[in-house]
Amino acid sequence: MDRELRHIDWFRDNIGKTIYGTSGCSCSVCHMQYLKGVRISDLNHANSLYSIQDTTNRRYFTSKEDRVEYERSLKG
Ligand SMILES: [Zn+2]
Repeated sequence: MDRELRHIDWFRDNIGKTIYGTSGCSCSVCHMQYLKGVRISDLNHANSLYSIQDTTNRRYFTSKEDRVEYERSLKG
């Protein structure tokens, strides 16, 4: 399993906070979320973000800096 995959508890613990995902898609909604992050509004939202990890290669971080570092590590 991918070491960067977040456990459901990680999303639940971050409800009410803003998290930053890697870019998976170039549409305007995703691009805006990439720039501004996503605030996890409630448990349903946490669950859906959690399941997005399985269907996409998107990974989530608590800071933009951590995300940038991860994206750099992918490029090698
Ligand atoms: Zn999109």
